[in-house]
Amino acid sequence: MNRHARSRTTVYAAGVLALLAAATGCTSGGDSGAASAALVPAGGSPAAAASPSRSGGPSPTASPSGGPAAGDPAAWAKWHLAPLPPAPPAPADKPVKLARTGPVPVFSEVKTSDKVVFVTIDDGAEKDPKFVEMLTDLKVPVSMFLTRDIVKDDYGYFKRLQALGNHVQNHTVDHPQMSKLPPEKQKSEVCDAQAALTQQYGTPPLLFRPPYGDGANTPALNTAVQQCGPRAVVLWRESMQIHDMQYQAADKKLRSGDIVLAHFRGPKDLKGETMTQMFGELLARIQEQGFAVARLEDYIEAPAA
Ligand SMILES: [Zn+2]
Repeated sequence: MNRHARSRTTVYAAGVLALLAAATGCTSGGDSGAASAALVPAGGSPAAAASPSRSGGPSPTASPSGGPAAGDPAAWAKWHLAPLPPAPPAPADKPVKLARTGPVPVFSEVKTSDKVVFVTIDDGAEKDPKFVEMLTDLKVPVSMFLTRDIVKDDYGYFKRLQALGNHVQNHTVDHPQMSKLPPEKQKSEVCDAQAALTQQYGTPPLLFRPPYGDGANTPALNTAVQQCGPRAVVLWRESMQIHDMQYQAADKKLRSGDIVLAHFRGPKDLKGETMTQMFGELLARIQEQGFAVARLEDYIEAPAA
């Protein structure tokens, strides 16, 4: 497929989405359309491929094959959902290899032929206990890009999701538009969130996502990320709204390796829908298109320590 064509189609959409972003706090938009899809293999050490357990200890959701375990059919029925196909085993040779130093790559998809997409959930405003129950039942892997000042009133909520094998990643201190900040302030947004999340969750976030995708491809942001520890900037291809996804691709179809953005949101931001209703709709959109959900971090080789 032609990734460049896909990027061009997003130029108009990005403007529309930026308006939405302003209205809703955090949604797709900003400069994500300009995000580089290309990943240059960084040639990391093979030792680093030994799937670092960044959540500490064996994951209760890990299957013997190394991929996420599939939830049982009764669990899907409980949530009134058709089961997703099980994710394939995590690839031994990671498609994304991160280097320990130097500029960090910016990506919104992972190159893989596995029929999988990756779900990322941002910010952390809604802390619905039913969502913990849902992920416990369904065992769908998610990556959590948390904003310190949005989660600090209840770090423990996300520890329950982390205990399911899900990783915590960095989404700034207080969710600013990074490109509007001077370099020193961009650095503190990344570094102070990195310190707090590392202290709370036990492992330093490997990935960073700027709010709204804003500034992702600027040298100042890349430098700030390099100074603070994350080794990649992760954007997205689709964003989940309330009932449907917004697609960057003109044909409105998921593609293998796409990264999907969702948010920890509740009825106040979802026109009365709950977090679990929104997430159920997200899974239904993925299921309709025949994709499994894989764990993003299973496709990324962290730098050798
Ligand atoms: Zn956000």
